[in-house]
Amino acid sequence: MKHNFGAGPCILPQEVFQEASKAVLDFNNTGLSILEISHRSKEFEEVVKETESLVRELLHVPENYSVLFLQGGASQQFAMVPMNLLPDGGKAAYLDTGVWATKAAKEAKNFGEVVTVASSKDSNYTYIPKDFEIPLDAAYFHFTSNNTIYGTEVFATPSTTVPKVVDMSSDILSREINIQEYDLIYAGAQKNMGPAGVTLVIIKNDLLGKTGKTIPSIFNYQEHIKAGSMYNTPPVYSIYVSMLNLRWLKAKGGVKAIEQENIIKARTLYDEIERNPFFKGTAAVEDRSRMNVTFVMDTPELEAEFLALAKERNLIGIKGHRSVGGFRASIYNALTITSINALVDAMKEFEESHK
Ligand SMILES: *Cc1c(COP(=O)(O)O)cnc(C)c1O
Repeated sequence: MKHNFGAGPCILPQEVFQEASKAVLDFNNTGLSILEISHRSKEFEEVVKETESLVRELLHVPENYSVLFLQGGASQQFAMVPMNLLPDGGKAAYLDTGVWATKAAKEAKNFGEVVTVASSKDSNYTYIPKDFEIPLDAAYFHFTSNNTIYGTEVFATPSTTVPKVVDMSSDILSREINIQEYDLIYAGAQKNMGPAGVTLVIIKNDLLGKTGKTIPSIFNYQEHIKAGSMYNTPPVYSIYVSMLNLRWLKAKGGVKAIEQENIIKARTLYDEIERNPFFKGTAAVEDRSRMNVTFVMDTPELEAEFLALAKERNLIGIKGHRSVGGFRASIYNALTITSINALVDAMKEFEESHK
């Protein structure tokens, strides 16, 4: 058995893969593959409807928010957000917590003024800045709730009357959130919701249509809302597999139940990092992510050796991002405690053999 700690695309439950593979040959006894059915067929309309209602149920999305399934990844949202929310001469506030946050701000600069309210760049993004002011005349405030590369997570949403836009790509559905604290949430599915190819967007409806600008239809949230995520041919298979994964999550007891598991998984791994003299965590303790656990060695020369042991033990995808180095274990919803224990055992084994 392989233990997939990859950062994204990520592990999904085995039963989801099995179910998904069946639909490739015969979808719901239609005699057709899910890969060939019309996106306008009754069968696929049911899929979109169920996926939306699972998102609404699992995240408690109120009626005055729209749920969209788009393409172009979180990266397209970096541009769509300012296109739809920034009026001419407008300004937007961004919190700089790493590469993804920086890329989001860079796109916004094409459409208006960007104010960086705070940054943790000075320490290579090992923490979440907490004391900052959000200008009250900003059209919106953008932040990244989980910094996939650096292993930091925002557990307390900054409070402000300015509309809040959040990139939740790598922690959506991993813990309970209060949707009403946010005005727009987006997430590339491939970190925790499903396979690559679909992006979830949840928007408070009254946020839209206020810029007075013409927005190309394909980038216009209101067009996508009007068309029920069918403005153009949607990523049929990615939505279908996401639906299967959301069903799996619901059957497990939903977000509340998975959050408890995620807390235990993260604690088990962080405890070993703290205990084991060969390893040390890179993120500030209070901001440590429950989804991406980043750690290095005191003796960097030994890192290649540990990676080799990890490979032998079927621990896949734990090499750290080049901008942090060391290791990163992504421990998304579908990764089990069995896999965490396998990694912890390898760390202990490494310690024993180097005493
Ligand atoms: C992976 C990631 C992205 C980029 O997602 P794409 O879907 O590849 O565009 C953006 N933000 C965060 C937080 C991510 O983890």
